[in-house]
Amino acid sequence: MADERALQEALQRQLALLSEQFAQRLEGEFQALGVLADSLLEGTGDASAHPQLQPLRDRLHKIAGSAGTFGFPRLGEAARRLERQAAQWLEHFDADPAALQAFADEVRGLHTERLPARATPPEGPLVARRLAQGQSYRIFILEDDRVVGRNMELTLRNFGYDARHYDRAETFREACLGEDPDALIVDVHLGDDAEDGLALTADIQAHMHQPVPLLVITSDNRFDTWLRAVRAGATGFFGKPVNLTDLENRLERTFVQQNGDPYRVMIVDDDLALAERYALVLRSSGMRVEVQARPAQVLEAMRAFLPEVLLLDVMMPGCSGPELAQIIRFHDDLLRIPIIYLSAETDIARQMDALLKAGDDFVTKPISDNALVATVFARAQRARLLSAALSRDGLTGLLRHADIKEQVTQEVLRSARGSKPASVVMIDIDHFKRVNDTYGHGVGDNVIRSLANLLRQRLRRADQLGRYGGEEFVAVLPDCAPAQARKVLDEIRLHFSQLEFIDQGRHFHVTLSAGVAAVRATDQPGETLERADRALYAAKRAGRDRIHIAPDEDTDPPAV
Ligand code: GH3
Ligand code: MG
Ligand code: MG
Repeated sequence: MADERALQEALQRQLALLSEQFAQRLEGEFQALGVLADSLLEGTGDASAHPQLQPLRDRLHKIAGSAGTFGFPRLGEAARRLERQAAQWLEHFDADPAALQAFADEVRGLHTERLPARATPPEGPLVARRLAQGQSYRIFILEDDRVVGRNMELTLRNFGYDARHYDRAETFREACLGEDPDALIVDVHLGDDAEDGLALTADIQAHMHQPVPLLVITSDNRFDTWLRAVRAGATGFFGKPVNLTDLENRLERTFVQQNGDPYRVMIVDDDLALAERYALVLRSSGMRVEVQARPAQVLEAMRAFLPEVLLLDVMMPGCSGPELAQIIRFHDDLLRIPIIYLSAETDIARQMDALLKAGDDFVTKPISDNALVATVFARAQRARLLSAALSRDGLTGLLRHADIKEQVTQEVLRSARGSKPASVVMIDIDHFKRVNDTYGHGVGDNVIRSLANLLRQRLRRADQLGRYGGEEFVAVLPDCAPAQARKVLDEIRLHFSQLEFIDQGRHFHVTLSAGVAAVRATDQPGETLERADRALYAAKRAGRDRIHIAPDEDTDPPAV
C-alpha cells in the first residue's frame, strides 16, 4: 500500500514536471501562432493566398493532440476546433474576410484557454470516494407508481444501497442536482401528465457534475423505446414488472466495473526511454505498468506482477518479440494474458507472420497516446472479464469451492503468524428445496444470487466470500472475532429475511442460517470449516433463521 502511494506520488511529480516543460514550450508556440494569424489576414483570394494555413493547421494539431495529456484540456479542445476549421479551408477555401478575422482572433486568444494545470491530483470517481468513507451507493429512483417505487426502494435498501424513491419529476431533478447520486433508475412513462422520463433524465444528466449510470424501467418493450433509452445513455433496460434481483445484479456489475483495481500492464521493449514514455501515458490513465528491457527476465517478472496485458516490442537484440511470445505460450499458466506487439513494423506480411507464431494483436508505432490507452484498456478489460468468468462461480461471481477453501487455509497460516483473531462462517439457505419445488429452479437461482449480492454488499473488502456448494456459502473474515462475526451475520440474516421475492405475482420470503468458527493457528486442514459446519447444523436444529457460534473448547467447554 505504501509502495503504491509512493509510486503515485512519484508519478504525479513526473507528470507535473512534464506539464511544466510543456507549458514553457507553449509560450513560444503561442507567439508563433500569433505571427501566423496576423499574416493570415494579409492575403486575399483562395487557400494559395494564405500559405499560413498549413503551418497553422500543423501547429494547432500538435497542441490539440498534447494539451489534454499535459493538463490543459480546454486548450486542447479549442485547438482541435481551430485545427478542423483550418483543415476544412485547406480542402475547400470558402472563408470571407469576417470569418478569417474571427479565426485569427481565436488563434490569438488561445492562450486564454490555458487554465493552469491542476495543482492537486484529480479526485477519483465519486463512487470510489463514497466507498472509501464506508458509505453506501446512492441510488435515486423516479417512478410515478408509488407502490412499485417504494417497493424498489425498500428492496434496494435491504441490499445495502442508499436508495431513494421520488414520484415527481421536480423533486427528482432537485435531488439529482443537489446530492450527487451514483446511479439513476427511471421509469419511461410518468403517468397522465405524460412527462417523458428519458428526456427528463437526459436533461438532468447534462446538468450534473458527471453523468452517472442510468437504468431504465418500462412496460413498453419496443425497439423504439430501447433505442431512445440507449440514446439517453442507459446501461440497463428492464421490463415491468421489474425483476429486482436482475436489477440489483446490473447495479452491482456497474459498480464493480467502476471500482475495479487498476489494470496491470507489462511493457517489454529494449528502448527503455520509449517504454517509459508509454508507461507514463498508461499510468496517467490509471493503469499499473511495469517495464522490462530484458527478454530473459520476462517470465519471472510476469509471474510476480501478473499482468493482464503484455505489450511486446518486435525488434529486440538477442530475442525477437515473436520468439519471446512463443516462449511465453509454452507456459499454460500465462496463456490467458493477451500479447500485443508494439512495433514500427509496417510490412503487413511480416506482421501476419508474427501473429501466426504467437500473439493476439498488433499496434504500429507511432501510436497516439489515446489510441494506446484505448487499445490496452479494451484488451485488459476483456482479459479481466474472461478471467473472472473462468475462475469464479458462474451464478454468483463468487469464489469457487476450492478457492474459498484455500482462503480458509491461508487464514489459518496467518493466525499461526500471530495475526488478530479471525472467523470463518458457513451460511446455508433454509428450506431451499421448497423454493425450488414451489417456484422452479430458475427462481431458486435468483434467490441464491440475491444472497450472494447481499453478502458482497455487506461484507468488507478484506473479507473473502465463496460459494461452497448449491445454496451454501463460506465467508472468511480476517481481524474479526466470532462474536463480532455473528453480529455482522445476524444483520445480514435480518436483511435477507426481509427481501421480498416475486414470481408471477406470488410474493415470498426466505431465511438463512449460519455457523461461525474461530480460526485457530493449530487447525488441521478442513478443521475450521468442520467446526463452522457443526455450528450451522446446530443453528438448523434450533429452528433455523439464526446464527450459532461453534463452542470454543478452550474457553467455553460444552456441557456434557
Ligand atoms: P435446510 O434448511 O435444512 O438447509 O433445507 P434445504 O431444503 O435448504 O436443504 P437441502 O440441502 O436438502 O436442499 C438444498 C437444495 O438446493 C437441493 C438442491 O436441489 C438445491 N440446489 C443446489 N444447487 C442449486 C442451484 O444451483 N440452483 C438451485 N435452484 N437449486 C440448487
Ligand atoms: Mg439449505
Ligand atoms: Mg444445503
